[in-house]
Amino acid sequence: MDNAGNTPRVILQEVGPRDGLQNERIVLDPTVRARIVNDLAEAGIPRIQIGSFVNPQRVPQMARTELVWRKLSRRPGTRYSVLILNKRGLEDALNAKMPHVEIYVSASETHSVKNSGTPVEKAMSEAVEIIVEALQRGIGVTAGVMCAFGCHYEGTVPVERVRDMVREFESHRPTEIGLADTTGMGDPQAMRTMIDSLAGIVPLERLALHLHDTRGLAMDNMIAALDMGVDKFDTSVGGLGGCPFVPNAAGNMATERVVDTLKAMGMATGIDSPAVARVRERLQALLQRPLGPRCTMPEK
Ligand code: MG
Repeated sequence: MDNAGNTPRVILQEVGPRDGLQNERIVLDPTVRARIVNDLAEAGIPRIQIGSFVNPQRVPQMARTELVWRKLSRRPGTRYSVLILNKRGLEDALNAKMPHVEIYVSASETHSVKNSGTPVEKAMSEAVEIIVEALQRGIGVTAGVMCAFGCHYEGTVPVERVRDMVREFESHRPTEIGLADTTGMGDPQAMRTMIDSLAGIVPLERLALHLHDTRGLAMDNMIAALDMGVDKFDTSVGGLGGCPFVPNAAGNMATERVVDTLKAMGMATGIDSPAVARVRERLQALLQRPLGPRCTMPEK
């Protein structure tokens, strides 16, 4: 944890514009998405995943993410990123001059095929090529493991499998390593076991967690990870989010709630939570459904 000031600082990345909006029935156009991202940046969120470069036929909600990027005010000091699934996505990100990409590979064979149509081994080798090329081209890259704490289809995911994937990523030195509890099957003990098992493989300051609230444990998991020294977490405004290939997946931790909880615990995020809550109110109107902590995916 960064103790440069008197108050420990936790770095949150807003993923609502990607993980959230990609699961919504109502598709927002790039201008509206850009306005939402601008407002979230203005609220002081230091990192924002603005969308993804994926096949718009598969994920129409994320179509024309390059236009979202072009329309942004680009607040100085904010890290803007996109999620990609393959080298085609990297090419699109490079063409758009995105400063940071995130590539995640599932630890579960079944989820990997459902989510990206690619077996794990092939997805890993492509991810490694993406890390190398992104770094060569001078942009940041987060390499992460999806379903790191369990899979809806396969059940328990062995810690060793996740550790081996992280070790493989780390041999190419991505900017950061991400661990995603895509299914929300993790618990505080699983967080401790996983983080312990990565000791000596990836330094804590380069580790970020993406925690879904499917079982209502995301905040407990965050607190367990904070206690271990992890200080980077993905959150989403209004608790938006899910995974189309994880039935009944709940959203991410709600950004505004995490900000308030951390503040109560004596930690700073630099984020104005009432400003984030105002974005949530606008999104409720745009998406025509209530949002809030423990948000579940809409009926299709
Ligand atoms: Mg997610």
